Amino acid sequence: MSSLRMIGVLVLILAAQAVRADPCKVSIEANDNMQFNMREIVVPSTCEAVEVTLRHSGKLGAKVMGHDWVLAKDADVSAIVNGGLSAGFSRGFLPQNDKRIIAATKVGGGESDTISFNTSSLAAGLRYVFFCTSPGHSTVMRGAFLFGDPTRLAKRP
Ligand code: ZN
Repeated sequence: MSSLRMIGVLVLILAAQAVRADPCKVSIEANDNMQFNMREIVVPSTCEAVEVTLRHSGKLGAKVMGHDWVLAKDADVSAIVNGGLSAGFSRGFLPQNDKRIIAATKVGGGESDTISFNTSSLAAGLRYVFFCTSPGHSTVMRGAFLFGDPTRLAKRP
């Protein structure tokens, strides 16, 4: 391939990325009122990897109002939250090496964190839960994470 043609291909790729938002990339915000700005995240099952950016839009520090974004199966949420309480702030309120955690950002206050995870451990059509493991937050800071076509999911939140 000539260098000129290579440049042409690169320009096309960049243009395509600019035109449409990538459905495999998720941006979510958490604020000082202990809220995520989304109740539901839908990711197409064609995504091989998902990139999640958590932005803490508040002003309070991590020790007062820190938030993280953790993904797990619905049935594993309570155990992960309890394990996170024991782990404490220094470990980001996350149980260490816990296989039930599919993905997790770090806890931040007024910061942002971007993670990427492989979807090979997710089953298409299943409903997962995203939540915050800071003490007391998971009862309100949680939402549904749907992998695949939501209209074909039997169980709705
Ligand atoms: Zn939180």
